[in-house]
Amino acid sequence: MRKRTETKKVWVKDLQVGGQDKVIIQTMTTHPTKAIEKIVEEIHTLATHGAQLVRLAILDTEDAMAIKTIKSLTQVLLVADIHFDYKLALLAIENGIDKIRINPGNIGHKEHVKQVVNACKKHGVPIRIGVNLGSLEKDLLKTYGRTAKAMVESAKRHVQILEDEGFEDIIISLKASDVKLTIEAYLLAAETFKYPLHIGITEAGPTYAGIIASSAGLGTLLYHGIGDTLRISLSGPRTEELKACKTLLSQFGLYARPKLIACPTCARLSYDMAPIVKKVEAYLENHPTQITVAVMGCAVNGPGEARDADIGIAGGMREGLIFIQGKIVKKVPQEHLYDALIEAIENHNK
Ligand code: SF4
Repeated sequence: MRKRTETKKVWVKDLQVGGQDKVIIQTMTTHPTKAIEKIVEEIHTLATHGAQLVRLAILDTEDAMAIKTIKSLTQVLLVADIHFDYKLALLAIENGIDKIRINPGNIGHKEHVKQVVNACKKHGVPIRIGVNLGSLEKDLLKTYGRTAKAMVESAKRHVQILEDEGFEDIIISLKASDVKLTIEAYLLAAETFKYPLHIGITEAGPTYAGIIASSAGLGTLLYHGIGDTLRISLSGPRTEELKACKTLLSQFGLYARPKLIACPTCARLSYDMAPIVKKVEAYLENHPTQITVAVMGCAVNGPGEARDADIGIAGGMREGLIFIQGKIVKKVPQEHLYDALIEAIENHNK
């Protein structure tokens, strides 16, 4: 894995984005922001599942005004997603939002941009510029086509507007649903900008396809040391988004969570392994340590194949094996295999 690219530190209240090895996990709510009770409940669920920043769609004045009450009911850091309307941005900032996502080039009048920037400066609110392939400026499309270059040039324009106002608390995203194009855009952006990058594949699709597309795209970027915050956007449950974020980051050592190794099984499988994998996965989901656990199908190859695991089990005909770092340490009756594994994990953590 390449060294992480150096980016400017930007603060969302006390949360550092950029200039570090950590990648911040984000997601977005589904309820209307003005539905305060539901939205607060949703925010808490998302935070419980690992969201560090939660984005709210701000469609009108009522949404923007609701931020004040929402902020009084939650400690979770919130981002206001605003299209075009500088008045909504001002209102969101006045009502205590922690970060806004707005493209300054879409605000229009220079004076209005100035007002938003001044409010952000006063309240310590950073701005995320979000370039989307689907809404690129016509002249850029004409000159560069639907390319990474066009996306980065678009971001440059928005950045310039903010820099001209002396504002540098900027985070940038460049999203497309095309994985290859997204990778190219972020590689170019990492060479071009000093600002932190929020990475994501937009409209990645339903859960299964979306996780694959996002893992391919964002995994490549993370391998190149790119990405300061990320979202995996799925047309599916938000909790799956967050689980996918944590799992992806953990593959690159960027998130501390337990790892579950499980063999694909074959004709040598000696017990009903699938339910145990499911149970162990659920047990590890909220487990606080970085332990690697293996669930393997047979005693012949299992322990050897799972050599890197801290603790594991391998099924036998009547008895299963408990192994530690690939070495068999104990035999237990098959029906006690799961309990014995959990006991071994608990003991490992003492
Ligand atoms: S561990 Fe055993 S059951 Fe699992 S894939 Fe390998 S040989 Fe097959």
